[in-house]
This record gives sequence, C-alpha cells and structure tokens, in this order.
Amino acid sequence: MSFVEIKKLVKSFGPEVAVAGIDLSVEQGEFVTLLGPSGCGKTTTLRCIAGLEHPDSGDIQIEGDYVTSVANEVFLTPEERNLGMVFQSYAVWPHMTVFDNVAYGLRIRRETRAAIKEKTTNALNLVGLGHLAERYATKLSGGQRQRVALARAIVYNPKVVLFDEPLSNLDAKLREQMRIELTRLQHDVGITSIYVTHDQTEALVMSDRVVVMDKGVIQQIGDPETIYAEPTNAFVANFIGVANLMEGKLLGHEGSATDVEIPLGDGSAPIRLKTTGAEGAPVGSKIILSIRPEDILLHLEKPADTLNLIEGEVIDTVYLGNFLDCQVQVGPYEIGVQIDHFEELDLGQKVYLSFTPDHGLCLTE
Ligand code: ATP
Repeated sequence: MSFVEIKKLVKSFGPEVAVAGIDLSVEQGEFVTLLGPSGCGKTTTLRCIAGLEHPDSGDIQIEGDYVTSVANEVFLTPEERNLGMVFQSYAVWPHMTVFDNVAYGLRIRRETRAAIKEKTTNALNLVGLGHLAERYATKLSGGQRQRVALARAIVYNPKVVLFDEPLSNLDAKLREQMRIELTRLQHDVGITSIYVTHDQTEALVMSDRVVVMDKGVIQQIGDPETIYAEPTNAFVANFIGVANLMEGKLLGHEGSATDVEIPLGDGSAPIRLKTTGAEGAPVGSKIILSIRPEDILLHLEKPADTLNLIEGEVIDTVYLGNFLDCQVQVGPYEIGVQIDHFEELDLGQKVYLSFTPDHGLCLTE
C-alpha cells in the first residue's frame, strides 16, 4: 500500500460534479502534482485530502489509516490528519514576528518551550529565514512571506504537505526562484507533497509525477517526461506544451508502424507513425495526430523521398530570441513550427513540412 491512497473519490456541489471518482496513490517522499485547467477539480481533491471537504463517496488513507471513508462513516478533522498546508494567499499573521508565526502551531500543540525553539529554528533555517526570526511579518517581501508559510507547514513534521497554487501570487522571476527552492527543500527534507497548479511548467519542473485532470477525471498519471513525450490523449497533448492537433482516419497497422490519413481540404496526407496510442482502435476509426512544433522540419524546396510530407503556406512568423516561431496554413489547420536556425520567410510563401514517424503521436479523443 502507498503512503497516501485515494479510492473512488467523488465530490459534487449540487449538480456540478467536481471530482468524478478518482483513484490516486502517492508514495512516501514523493512530490505529486495535480495539474489541469480551472475548474477541473484539483482544488476540491486537495481539500478532500485536507479534510476541508466532505466527499460524497470514496476513501482516503494516509499511512495505512483511514482519514476519510464515506461508506464506513470515518471522517477525521483537518487537525487530526496531521497535514501541512500552504495556500496561494500567504495567511501570515502580520502582528507576529516570523518566529511566532512559525511557532504558533507548536504552541497550540502544547510542545515544550525548548522543543518549540529547536523546531522553529530548524524550520526557519531550512527555508532560509533563520536571520529574520525576529522581524515582523509586515516587513517581509512576498517571497519571504511564502517561505514563512512553508516553514509553518513543515515545522511540526506533518505526514504530507498540501500545496494549493502557492506561487501564483508571486511575480515571474520570484516564482522561478521559489520553484527551485521548493524542489530543493522537498528533496532535502523528503516531505511527501501533493501540489496543485494550473501552470504546466511548474508541474513539469518540480514533480516526480504529474496527474493531469480534466472535468473531475484523471486523464493521465506519469513522470514529467512521459506526460510530455507520450500523452495518452488529445487533451493531455494539448494541455502540456503546445501541440498541433489534426483529425484523421486510422488506415491500419504494419509491424510497429501505424498508417493514418489526414484530410487537408483538396487532398489528404498519408502519415506513417512509429508509436501509437490507438493500438486497440479499429481500422477506419477517427484519430488525432499530435505533433509538437519543435519536432517539425521546414523545407523551402520539396524534398525527395521524405515521409510525412505536407505542403503549406507561411501565414505568420515571430522571432523569439533563439528561435523562429512560424505559423503555416496546412489545409484547414494552422500548424506551429519552431525553427532554431535563421530562415528568411515571406508571408504567403509555399513551404513543406515533415516529421519522422517517431515524432508524431496517434491519439484518440
Ligand atoms: P481552479 O484552478 O480555478 O481553482 P480547480 O481545478 O481547482 O480550479 P475546483 O476548485 O476543484 O477546480 O472546482 C471544480 C468544480 O467545482 C468547479 O466547477 C467549481 O465551480 C465547483 N466548485 C468548487 N467548489 C465549490 C463550492 N464550494 N460550491 C460550488 N461549486 C464549487
């Protein structure tokens, strides 16, 4: 059994199904991120784990103990669960010093004066605020306040720390810095962490595993590389990074290759793919071809003997520092292509796009 086990969790608000029966296991020391668009149910899932929300059905176990079991009428209060929480709003008490903010939870737990001093000092040193212990919280920057919130969440050695978009109020630069610090801290201390965000970069950079959610349902669980390179459906492909998606038809399988056809207005492009997410799909069924901008080659002349060649017209180009982002009209689709070398392109110019069979993915909806 895993450290945190969630089984068949359902939570509705009136007719709105926020969480539609999810199963999730988190190992001890793991950093798992719930990622998805606004309203997909990630916060509700986190609040159910925290004990802030009563689910309609399902079980949640932490370290083998039920903290929620609807069928067995078990529901531990948030305090009884011994979890740390860090939220978007810093919730740092302005009238207290940094030390007192962090020590508060220990005082409530009636720890000894010596234990409070030692644990608070340790937690403050871990988040790099040891030197600001006596400063009042009002005199802190946004990043420092968020560190106080973090120290407060880890000071009593909780079983799991729950994070709900903790970095979203910070500016871009500070957010990047805090991402690195949080990941380092998480690895140093080995806290089991469940993190909620709608920011895919944050999820991919920080997590051991990412749980992609949509409409209250888990779409895919995997390590960041797998989620990015092998999305299991069109939603994940599109949500994680930028993907060009084109609808087509499955023609058949030959050995490890899959052949599909993409209708493009006045013709259709035969496409051969190496990997496929549509092994079980019958011939003739609707598929979605997903191809990332950085995996497409752009040719000015029609290359000979090239697989997966499609013709298009340049409709936009933007220089983004070290690469050129080019939009190419291909039949009804605007295909994004990322070129990492300088290329002189005119609007309306005819170009040819190609990609190797191992770069395109064949997905079902
Ligand atoms: P966000 O990133 O915007 O917070 P989310 O993925 O965390 O989104 P949830 O906050 O879990 O999504 O919400 C899931 C669905 O449940 C949404 O449609 C939301 O409107 C609804 N919902 C959440 N909390 C409540 C509530 N207290 N009362 C009514 N509906 C709610």
